[in-house]
Amino acid sequence: MIKICPYCDKELDEDNYCNNRYCWVYRNFIINPKDSQTTPKPAISIKDLNSEQDRILTKLKQVAIDKGHDYNGKQQVQGDTLYNLRVPSILGICDDPIQTCLMNAANKIMRLSSLRTTDPAVKGESFMDSVEDCINYLIYAGLFYKENE
Ligand SMILES: [Zn+2]
Repeated sequence: MIKICPYCDKELDEDNYCNNRYCWVYRNFIINPKDSQTTPKPAISIKDLNSEQDRILTKLKQVAIDKGHDYNGKQQVQGDTLYNLRVPSILGICDDPIQTCLMNAANKIMRLSSLRTTDPAVKGESFMDSVEDCINYLIYAGLFYKENE
């Protein structure tokens, strides 16, 4: 009987090792493999993808409004809602706001890399929260870039 990795749904080798190098248990022994009789998990369809993109972008708009209010309410009203991301370059800590955005995005990438295999210690800040924050920082970086064009 074919045995399946419970993490990536690829076939295990005869010794119950997962040989899918994109699986987080790559080359590890699987104690409780799934058998081939189980229904495979459906793949991600374009409908699933577009629906998730819509969900994230709707959420990111609200996050930008809320964070703009909390980080720099005065500047948001005056029309500079990302002012707080200009501050590190005003202080000389970063070269420009783009670098500030990329640094923040890099922190989120590091967090994502770590959360891939562990549960977050900070409750209420899930893997998806960091994915969403990272997307927002990249959008901000793009806007600062366009500002200089
Ligand atoms: Zn696997």
